[in-house]
Amino acid sequence: MGEDFKQLKRRGRDEYERDELIFRVGFLSSPANLIAVIEATGGVELGSSGHTTSTNKHYEVIMATTKIEWSEKVWNPVTGCTKVSTGCKHCYAEKMAYRLQGMGQAKYANGFEVTIHLDILKKPLKWKKPSRVFVNSMSDLFHEEVTETFIGLVFEVMCKAKQHQFQVLTKRSERLAELAPDLPWADNIWMGVTVEKEKYLHRIDHLRQTPAATKFISFEPLLGPVSDFDPTGIDWVIVGGESGPGARPMEEEWATEIRDKCVDAGVAFFFKQWGGRNKKAAGCLLEERVWSEYPA
Ligand code: SF4
Repeated sequence: MGEDFKQLKRRGRDEYERDELIFRVGFLSSPANLIAVIEATGGVELGSSGHTTSTNKHYEVIMATTKIEWSEKVWNPVTGCTKVSTGCKHCYAEKMAYRLQGMGQAKYANGFEVTIHLDILKKPLKWKKPSRVFVNSMSDLFHEEVTETFIGLVFEVMCKAKQHQFQVLTKRSERLAELAPDLPWADNIWMGVTVEKEKYLHRIDHLRQTPAATKFISFEPLLGPVSDFDPTGIDWVIVGGESGPGARPMEEEWATEIRDKCVDAGVAFFFKQWGGRNKKAAGCLLEERVWSEYPA
């Protein structure tokens, strides 16, 4: 057990760089308990460090890294959001924000209210190791309460931090299309929209209007067929079913129909998961193979 904890510490020191989300979990007796807490806080992978006093053990859990299958790091210069469409029903970010608020994490003192975090705006400039960085896993950058000025600053940082690929995903595609002409763009900014149902296919038209060099769609949680999906002008497509309690099921033909269109059009396709209550058990095989392509 001691050896395991040493390994965790080393991993925290060597492989992960600290981001904005450091919180302390106290009085843990073992690394196994530490891991249990990490998993309970939503499956965000850890770097870790710890120290012991004669009476207590405290561990700092570092949450810059992520288990989001298609990303490597998260960067949350904004936290908090409001629900905008049916895909938001079981919003992971909302649950996580309240959990972190309950744990006394200062960054989440406002719970799930939209909050700007100027203090971590420039963090990616300090990360030397090139990474795929998911921007705002705990919010939507194009939320109406995030000012145009702040969105512009986020884009400026992404343009400067050329060592990384930034993945920005929004459901507020109207605002994206409206602001896009005035934002600075660079080839390392991947811009995406979420489409959970046919009803929201218009978000892809908004995405096409932007000058983003890499455009992607997240069909997650996929809640219905999207037979009218046209992959023209799109570089990458992610499909995933909803996971967790109350997850709404995804039918196989909804996913294969999207996949077939991507294959025909030469669009990179990533099948993330079937989802369900136990997403690990459901796995990520689509017609008996893994689909984990990335844009060229
Ligand atoms: S847009 Fe995203 S972060 Fe905002 S409520 Fe919906 S699922 Fe949650």
